[in-house]
Amino acid sequence: MARPRLALIAHDLKKDDLVDWVGTHEKQVALFDIVATGTTGTRILERCPELPVTRVKSGPLGGDQQIGAMIAEGKIHGVIFFVDPLTPMPHDVDVKALTRLATLYDIPIALNRATADLMVKGYNP
Ligand code: PGA
Repeated sequence: MARPRLALIAHDLKKDDLVDWVGTHEKQVALFDIVATGTTGTRILERCPELPVTRVKSGPLGGDQQIGAMIAEGKIHGVIFFVDPLTPMPHDVDVKALTRLATLYDIPIALNRATADLMVKGYNP
């Protein structure tokens, strides 16, 4: 079977938190092929250069929508998206569309660290 694919995204004020989370769970995250929005992916690779990370466009430039399209195509098996609930975003509609598609296609999606921890604990390949 092909390796499962995990999408990783973080808003700017949450990037440190996501990079720290990935570093903490690197062994489990390495079980997946990773797709990340541009800046998030760059930050993850700086911390964990061995991880198989493919970068799409930056979120505000369409990266969230690219990941949404991959969900619709059955190419994403989980999403970890550390959202910033306190800052208005120009691409808020893209974030909403991505979470809607994850809900529609019944893809596990963690929007904060506590849920991401549960997702990692619940994954037994
Ligand atoms: P970025 O995009 O990783 O390119 O910053 C994330 C987002 O803001 O959706």
